[in-house]
Amino acid sequence: MGMVFVNGSWLEPACATVSVFDRGFLFGDGVYEVIAAYDRHPFRLGAHLRRLNRSLEAIRLPNPMDNRQWAELIADAIAQESSTDQAVYIQVTRGVAPRDHAFPDCPPTIVVMGNPLKPPPAAWLSQGIAVVTMADIRWQRCDIKTTSLLANVLLRQAALDAGAAEAVLLQDGQLTEGAASSVLVVKNGVLHAPPPGPALLPGITAELLLALARRLELPTRLGAVGETLLRNADELWLTSTTREVLPITMLDRQPVGDGRVGPLFQHMHQAYQEARRWDAATIDALLQQPSSITLHP
Ligand code: PMP
Repeated sequence: MGMVFVNGSWLEPACATVSVFDRGFLFGDGVYEVIAAYDRHPFRLGAHLRRLNRSLEAIRLPNPMDNRQWAELIADAIAQESSTDQAVYIQVTRGVAPRDHAFPDCPPTIVVMGNPLKPPPAAWLSQGIAVVTMADIRWQRCDIKTTSLLANVLLRQAALDAGAAEAVLLQDGQLTEGAASSVLVVKNGVLHAPPPGPALLPGITAELLLALARRLELPTRLGAVGETLLRNADELWLTSTTREVLPITMLDRQPVGDGRVGPLFQHMHQAYQEARRWDAATIDALLQQPSSITLHP
């Protein structure tokens, strides 16, 4: 781990601390972002800064910096860490103030750091991962990337305790997402994703995967994904900034499709690896292409 930015200072990780009166500590009153950097270039920076701004607006915390200042700070964090591929973490909390639920009048706390980004274990890509379904016990604003992650932590740990790599969450019989990932479903040559809304985080990796799928002429459908569709999928994929795209081959101890990594996964994984090298303009052009997406209520 490189030096950590805390409110204007770059500190050694062991000395990088915040106050016990920080509202992130007291209340989980903050938001965060995770941005991959490949070869020291932040990937999809614009999309991550847009989502950071959206999260800040949703918790009524004014954005302390403009995009140019964020970009500079992120570049500085990347320069501090020795690995060329990194996961850059940004945390913004409502600051340090005497304990009171009411909003304080104080500057926010800003923490930024670069961590090494390791590729997923080879076995995950060749054999796939196991997941278990769980009831989505989180709150009703899962579209905000908040540091209040207790439910996600409990769900992920319950999945690990069950010998699985991730918890796949169901709310009223419908797929929302993973405890720290998005989930995409392939059935009969169509790529299904749950629609954006308050029940799940708008995944930046999933957004790109959907656009890459359309480019490869795999039709996409944004709409409710029921438990039956999930359990009868031909392929299931897990996506996130740090895990990119992974094949899910076991769901609740049952094989997904034939239990092997699917052919469409191989194409999409390859496409994602290529897209990692594209510049922002190329990716934006792809995302703006008219799509065959059908939006079902
Ligand atoms: N949902 C949740 C709850 C997550 O924590 C993450 C990972 N940040 C994702 C989805 C995937 O989002 P992204 O692809 O933007 O990393």
